[in-house]
Amino acid sequence: MGYSLNITQADAVLEKLRKDYRVFAPRRFPKQGRYSDTDIVRYAEVERFSDIVWDVKSDYPAKEVLTPIQQTIFYFTEDEYRASKVAAKPILLLARPCDINAQKIQARIYAGNGGYDDFYYTRMRELVTFALMECGGGDDTCFCVSMGTNRTDDYAIALRFSPEGVVVGVEDESFAPYFDGMPQEDYTPAFVEENELKVTPPDLSDIEVRKALKKHPMWKEFDSRCISCGSCTVACSTCTCFTTRDVIYGDNPEVGERRRVSASCQIEGFDQMAGQRELRSTPGDRMRFKVLHKFYDYKARFKESHMCVGCGRCTNRCPEFISISATVNKMNAAVEEIKADMARKGV
Ligand code: SF4
Ligand code: SF4
Repeated sequence: MGYSLNITQADAVLEKLRKDYRVFAPRRFPKQGRYSDTDIVRYAEVERFSDIVWDVKSDYPAKEVLTPIQQTIFYFTEDEYRASKVAAKPILLLARPCDINAQKIQARIYAGNGGYDDFYYTRMRELVTFALMECGGGDDTCFCVSMGTNRTDDYAIALRFSPEGVVVGVEDESFAPYFDGMPQEDYTPAFVEENELKVTPPDLSDIEVRKALKKHPMWKEFDSRCISCGSCTVACSTCTCFTTRDVIYGDNPEVGERRRVSASCQIEGFDQMAGQRELRSTPGDRMRFKVLHKFYDYKARFKESHMCVGCGRCTNRCPEFISISATVNKMNAAVEEIKADMARKGV
């Protein structure tokens, strides 16, 4: 069943939905962007149809609704603790196909990893129903088609926005009553079939190739280019690493709260161990780790997709203009060079 709503009708449906759901969508925050006089688009609860930013990709991913950059996980006193609480109201999360597919990956890490189920992720994920935002093709950093994340069927309703309003397809019949009396129109969501940008992750199944790639000079370039700020991982749709921090109330160090805070493998000291030892002490080492984690390790471990969904947000957010797609394509060229060299030497 499909419906075509003008802005007034869309506001009326949103008002009905908000009685049963907290509705989250990309929203514009004026003058809170990287530079003075620039905006930022990030996920937040919306109250009116005009709050929803649908015509540009959000700067930060939908994951922020499920795993905010910081959250209190428990409160403690001298000898007791209590888990934090979240609002029990269900969430309707408006998201593009890449963001919806990213949640499959996040769920694999948080809730399907060796039998361990992350309480804080799962309690949020169980509240979420997706509303698909039909994507018109993203921007020139997107490569969802290369990563196979351009399509999804994990949504209750689908939405095609325009300046005049929104066309809605209802997949989950429990949503039909919210549209009672609204003008009907047939609608099937379209998915992006081709991006301008194409990325080809290399075949790294040969351990000798992987060993040679680890020492390849391409990673040295990042020692001078990457400033280890971590912006790319904070903006990443699928990164899950976090650390914890205790916030102490007043003078008593035994009363306070523990927060979970996003962490980044790109920041110096991320992997520091006892004795100040670090496994990846240069920006180039850390870049190699991140790129291989996204484009080799995850798939090798879980035998499904790569960990990157091709949203391009890391490229958009990098202050040094380091492009993930250019880096992967460069890695692909390095692997071809390594394989040709091995063939020449008869290895
Ligand atoms: S690595 Fe970059 S392109 Fe891939 S999912 Fe993360 S932010 Fe998106
Ligand atoms: S790649 Fe860019 S965004 Fe990521 S840590 Fe390096 S400079 Fe920062």
